[in-house]
Parts: sequence; C-alpha cells; structure tokens
Amino acid sequence: MNSTYFLEATYLLASILFILGLKGLSHPDSARKGMILAAAGMAAAVLGTLFHPEIIHYQWIALGLIVGSCIGIPMAMVPMTAMPQRTALSHAFGALAASLVGVAEYTMNGTHMGPVKMGALGFEVMLGSLTTTGSLIAAAKLQELMRGTPIQFKGQHIVNLLLFVTMLGCYIGWQLNPEMVALFYSMIACALVFGVMLVIPIGAADMPVVMSLLNSYAGLSSAATGFVLSNNVLIIAGTLDGFSGFILSILMCRAMNRSMVNVLFGGFGAIVGTDTGAVGGAMREVSLDDVAVQLAYANQVVFVPGYGMATAQAQHAVRELGNLLEERGISVKYGIHPVAGRMPGHMNVLLAEANVPYSSLYEMEQINPELQATDVAVVIGANDVVNPDARDNPKSPIAGMPIIEVDRAKSVVVLKRGKGKGFSGLENPLFFKPVTGMLYGDAKASLTNLAQAVQKV
Ligand code: NAP
Repeated sequence: MNSTYFLEATYLLASILFILGLKGLSHPDSARKGMILAAAGMAAAVLGTLFHPEIIHYQWIALGLIVGSCIGIPMAMVPMTAMPQRTALSHAFGALAASLVGVAEYTMNGTHMGPVKMGALGFEVMLGSLTTTGSLIAAAKLQELMRGTPIQFKGQHIVNLLLFVTMLGCYIGWQLNPEMVALFYSMIACALVFGVMLVIPIGAADMPVVMSLLNSYAGLSSAATGFVLSNNVLIIAGTLDGFSGFILSILMCRAMNRSMVNVLFGGFGAIVGTDTGAVGGAMREVSLDDVAVQLAYANQVVFVPGYGMATAQAQHAVRELGNLLEERGISVKYGIHPVAGRMPGHMNVLLAEANVPYSSLYEMEQINPELQATDVAVVIGANDVVNPDARDNPKSPIAGMPIIEVDRAKSVVVLKRGKGKGFSGLENPLFFKPVTGMLYGDAKASLTNLAQAVQKV
C-alpha cells in the first residue's frame, strides 16, 4: 500500500514539475530553468516507476537503459544546425515506443480489455505508427537524405483520403471484432503508409510546423498509452505534450500568415517558387569600409538575424561586433522575428549560445517602433522576415505576414552571399530600396571583417 502511495506521490510531483517546466519554456529568460524542471520531473517519474512493486524484470529495464543511452548520447551531440532533424528522430522513437507498448498490450491482454481501453489502444497504435514514419520522413528531408521540396503527384489527395478511410475502417472493424488480429495489423500498415504520405508533399522548410504537429500526435498517443496502462503521469504528460505541440503549430502558422491546411496540403515550396514578383531598380552594393564607418558613428544599431546567420554560424561574430559597438557607447539591439530561421526560437537559441544577453533581444512587436530612431539596421542572412511586400503588396503570397520593418531605419545593410531568395522563393523589394546597401559575402566572414574595420575607424 505504501509503495502505491509513493508511486502516486512521485507521479504527482512529476506532473507538477512538467507544468512548471512548460511555463518556464515560454520565455528565453526562464527556458533553461524550465528544461531542468521538466528533466527533474521525468527523473521523478522514472524513479517512482522503478520502485513499483509490480516490476520484477529489472534486467529488461537495464537493457533498455543501455540501448537507449547508446542511441541518445550521440544524438545529444549533434551541432545546433542539425537540431530540427534530431528532434524529428526523437519524435519517431517516442511514437515507436508508444506503438510497441500498444502492440504488446494487445498481444498479452488481447480481447480481455474493456471497450474504453480497446479504443484508447487503437488510437495509441494508429497515431504512434503514423507519427513514427512521418517523423522519419521529416528527419530524412531535413538531413537532405531525400528531396526536401514537396513530392506531389496527380490524385495525391484522393489516395490519402482513401488511405485514411481504410485506416479508420480497420480501426472501427477491429473495435467491433477485437479478436480479428488481421484488422489490427492492417490498421497499423495503413497508419505507417499514411505517415509517409502525410509528410512527403510538405516542403522541408515547412517541416518545423509539421514536426510540432507530429510532436502533438506523439503526445496524444502517449496519453492514450496512459489510459491503456492506467498510468496517470503518462496521461498528464502526454496531454501536455499533445496540446502544447498543437498550440505551437498554430502559433507558427499565424506568424507566417498561413493556415494549417495550407501548410499541410499546399505544397508551399512547389508553387510559390514560380511567383517571384516584379521588382524594379538595381541593388546597391556597399563596401566593408562604408559600413564600418556607418556603424562606428551610429547612435543605435539593430541586428536582424535570419536563416543565413544560422547556416553561416555567425552568432559569435555578431556578438563580438555588437560588443565592440557597445564599447563605443552605441546602443545595440537584436530584433527577433518569431519564424526567422527554420525552427521556433532558432535565433534565440543561437544568440544565447553566443552569450548575447536576453535583455538585448527584442521581439518583433518591441523592435518595430524603435526602427525609425535606428541609424543602421543590419540584416544578417534574413530575407522573408524583412520583406516589405508582405506589408505593402496585397497580391504577394506572403501578404499579411508580420515583418520586421527594417526599411523604416535611416540606413539598412543586408549581409548575404549573393542574389539567393529566401524560403518563400520571392524577390525582396527591400534589397532594391535606396535606403538599402548590400554587403555580399558569407555572414560570418562579413561580420568578422566588419569588427576589424570598426576598430580602425
Ligand atoms: P530566409 O527567407 O530563408 O532567407 C535566408 C537568406 O539567407 C537567403 O536569402 C540567403 O541568401 C541568405 N544566406 C544563406 N546562407 C547565408 C550565409 N552563409 N551568409 C549570409 N547569408 C546567407 O530566412 P528568414 O528571413 O530567416 O525567413 C525564414 C523563413 O522560413 C520564413 O519564410 C518562414 O516563414 C520560414 N519558416 C520558418 C520556420 C521557423 O520555425 N522559424 C518554420 C517554417 C518556415 P543568399 O543565398 O544570397 O546568401
């Protein structure tokens, strides 16, 4: 009896720590503490379970721990730029675990379960299976092991619909006849194929939205596992995971001014690449020394990082330049767009890694009113998130997407390698405005050279 109380107490503690952890993750300042709290919650749940009186086969747990650690430790060491595909792999493993638990429960207890548990088990295995293959495809696309652009074919939506209906049909048929093993495994087969079909038509850069959706599915699948195993902490953690993932997907779609339907079925990278927009004029190239002088004599400088900063790994170089400017008494701020880069919080994570203080990071809504009083806005490998067409051209495919309005600054300097387009494939009129100067080159090299040039001014 006492051990049951101990178990429930550790689960309660774990659930509280998960909730506090999630709350911590809602702000960069408290994110690290949030992660520690959530990890402590997981440790409490694992410890509580290990002392469960019903556990007798510790050798299997030890084996799982060894195998899991052998896979998990190298996965934790990937570079920051590979984090999206690493996360996709974690989702795949989590969902696979939930599915396997479901299959094992069905194999062991089969038809003895009540209808509620059977319903939850089917849900768990179905969602878990489609999340496993969907996440593996997402990881393969992000790692460029397969084509990143949308893979589409004629009648794709019909095929997907048929597959979905067959999967659902197997689920319902099996619920009505739990002894029909063939229906159970057909449902799994359909779910595995459906996971692949769900993700292949989505462009690699849209993958973060899909991943947080798959994360949500994996969470809901774990919550269903909790119902099957009568495990409260799994129900709570799975539900938190499921709904936070879903909310994150919605927030990302909103920040891109796109609907979830458009992300999931639109094949974004496949269609907008053709509509490059007509922009007149020429780009004005500026020299390193020009920019160094502008920066050295500015009162306020705003850095706006984007995907290019991540690929160039230029976060340390920008912090060094920022420090130099601050030493000269210049106010330095960093404007962060919510979908800059390729995953939520991408810029925050990179700048935090380079020890840029959180107090210098300004969200889009905070930095926009400051830009008119800014002498130089330095765009570091950002494109779509500073594209004024989103604000000025109602016909643009990104019309209505909120942007960082760097074109309101007194001077804009864009650091990029050449005339490459952003994720949307659209031309950016910002680069053709008289206020804008283009400093071509890899962002890291440009920032390092700028720091040296500023010291000479
Ligand atoms: P972006 O529109 O993808 O533009 C990145 C720019 O960086 C390119 O124009 C490229 O031009 C430049 N670049 C690439 N490598 C560089 C390097 N080594 N040095 C200097 N410049 C480099 O990036 P963004 O403005 O950050 O916009 C993010 C886009 O991703 C948005 O459209 C957003 O909707 C989408 N998205 C984001 C998320 C998310 O969660 N963050 C999720 C899904 C989709 P060059 O080739 O000329 O150098």
